[in-house]
Amino acid sequence: MRKTIVIGIALLFGFALFMGGAPATAQAKTTFITIGTGGITGVYYPTGGAIAKIVNKKKKEYGIRCTVESTGGSVFNVNAIMSGDLEFGVVQSDRQFQAINGSPDSEWAGKPQKDLRAVFSIHPESITLVAAVDADIKNILDLKGKRVNIGNPGSGQRQNSIDALTAVGIDIKKDLNAEGIKASESAGLLQDGRIDAFFYTVGHPNGSIKEATSGKRKIRFASITGVEKLLEKYPYYAKAFIPIKLYPGAVNKKDIQTFGVKATFVTSAKVPDNVVYAITKEVFDNFEAFKKLHPAYQVLTKEGMLEGLSAPIHPGAMKYYKEAGLK
Ligand code: GLU
Repeated sequence: MRKTIVIGIALLFGFALFMGGAPATAQAKTTFITIGTGGITGVYYPTGGAIAKIVNKKKKEYGIRCTVESTGGSVFNVNAIMSGDLEFGVVQSDRQFQAINGSPDSEWAGKPQKDLRAVFSIHPESITLVAAVDADIKNILDLKGKRVNIGNPGSGQRQNSIDALTAVGIDIKKDLNAEGIKASESAGLLQDGRIDAFFYTVGHPNGSIKEATSGKRKIRFASITGVEKLLEKYPYYAKAFIPIKLYPGAVNKKDIQTFGVKATFVTSAKVPDNVVYAITKEVFDNFEAFKKLHPAYQVLTKEGMLEGLSAPIHPGAMKYYKEAGLK
């Protein structure tokens, strides 16, 4: 009798080990990480995909399994990384600066996000103003009295739109009908006649603006000029232009003057060094292959990817940069 119980327990124990034990050990070896991006028709989403693709190729070597999430954009990503809901995110360089410094005119006013860490920067993004030709908007100044999507709270572009409008003397509360809708819906709303224009801070080319410029309603990029003081005031803004050849569907004949920032890749100080090291190494060691994953990466250089960072560089990334002679 006693023997039977002992064997029974041994069997049960063995069974439990078999059921729970083995998969648990396998799981302990895999680190799951998620990259926060933006709307699926922007450049952040394919950027997350490009990084994940390169890192997941070495799943066996590093034990890292990388997934990508579509989100509301830069501000959402910073906050989700800080709360531990995401490990990595793509974030505008201006948003990175504001978050680490707790800048007065930002969502983080007086609340510096001390654990925010930079990994590298990616493609340039320009503050893009897309308008319907029938709404007669050629310049940002023509937005007065119009219905304009300035960006959802959580997006990077919302503050850029407000900054640009304020700089040219347009009050978003009094002078226009401002909408706060996600970027992925802007093109459809413009084509359906439900808005006259939208702002999007984004790399080029991208799916959203291709969609906006290939519908029935004729579309023009409006120029954003008269913002010199704004560019002097904030170190993260620089002059930029949108190459019109990327969007044959738009009516413009010449490149469009505006200003811009950079997309950057960020994480938290709490994310382990070996994970950040692996991602940095894979992207930089496979640089030429990475560059081919999106046309907006054509202008990238390894040195340039270390510019535009204002949060401290994560030690895992720094280890790679030192090894590679980039720092
Ligand atoms: N710059 C936008 C943002 O921070 C996202 C652009 C994109 O998804 O490519 O919200």
